[in-house]
Amino acid sequence: MKRIVVFGGTFDPVHQGHLRIIDAIERHISPHRILVIPCGQPPHRAAPIASGEHRSEMLRLACNNRPSLVVDDRELRSDTLSYSYLTLKDVQLEYPDALLYMTLGWDSLASFTRWHRWQDILDMSCLLVVGRSSKEDQEYIGLQEVPAEIGLSVEKLEAANQATRCIVELPFDEIDCSSTEVREALRFGASAEHVLKPQVIEYIKKYNLYQS
Ligand code: ATP
Repeated sequence: MKRIVVFGGTFDPVHQGHLRIIDAIERHISPHRILVIPCGQPPHRAAPIASGEHRSEMLRLACNNRPSLVVDDRELRSDTLSYSYLTLKDVQLEYPDALLYMTLGWDSLASFTRWHRWQDILDMSCLLVVGRSSKEDQEYIGLQEVPAEIGLSVEKLEAANQATRCIVELPFDEIDCSSTEVREALRFGASAEHVLKPQVIEYIKKYNLYQS
């Protein structure tokens, strides 16, 4: 069965943390497609700073030479709030026979039960959770009511060929960085070279993004 991984985010801008997550997805899931989906209108946070077009273009520049990866603008084209449930539903229509996976960080998992139709998300896909916090923080606080198999290892997942109602820890080469830190650094004229791809730096300079 085809494996389709959805990796959504604001990508404002895309940085090494995101790229390492994509590496981990490729390594551990071997998907047919990774759909990297820049968020159009985030329902739970402030609007992104850079336009959808700029965020999407930076993703394309950062992710070239990855045959299984598609930068997918479906949320940018939509005029509704970017609920993951709606995006997954849309992806499911496009790939009706595939196993669907949705990637998110631990910080996002902490608020998962407040997401629009989160139970339906669990019925449609397997959550791939990548670490960001310390081991102590990685308790499944507030997720007791989640009707899913939690903490399954990627290897077990493969053996079971399971792709719904499970939350899997995706091992990844952790790096402590965020788009917020990148934007702050750029705003104050500092360099963010260690976490941005050179082509993304060039693009940011060309369009004067993230200046105060
Ligand atoms: P911001 O600082 O603007 O909130 P971000 O760096 O968290 O942005 P997003 O585009 O919002 O980036 O992230 C998309 C997903 O990637 C989220 O689920 C987030 O938790 C995860 N993520 C981003 N950076 C890292 C990182 N360094 N380690 C682990 N997960 C990360």
